[in-house]
Amino acid sequence: MNLKPCPFCGGDVYLSREKRCYRNGYDHCIICHDCGVCTPDFGASDEAVEVWNQRVLEADHPTPAANEPKGVAGEGGDGTAEKGEAA
Ligand SMILES: [Zn+2]
Repeated sequence: MNLKPCPFCGGDVYLSREKRCYRNGYDHCIICHDCGVCTPDFGASDEAVEVWNQRVLEADHPTPAANEPKGVAGEGGDGTAEKGEAA
């Protein structure tokens, strides 16, 4: 079964058995190389792939996985944004 590209960033994804997700006792999940989004763990690779591909079809809008604010000014800050060092 083929893995569809990441619905959030379009990057390549891979099947992982790193047990990095939150379901104990399962060790198959799909992870995006680029943005790091991943499925929960599943007991079988086919199941993880199936869920991933379904998720791709449903993803019409961003999810919290891609919701980290970057360079947003005006909220929670004091106007002294760090500039000039890191590119
Ligand atoms: Zn991605």
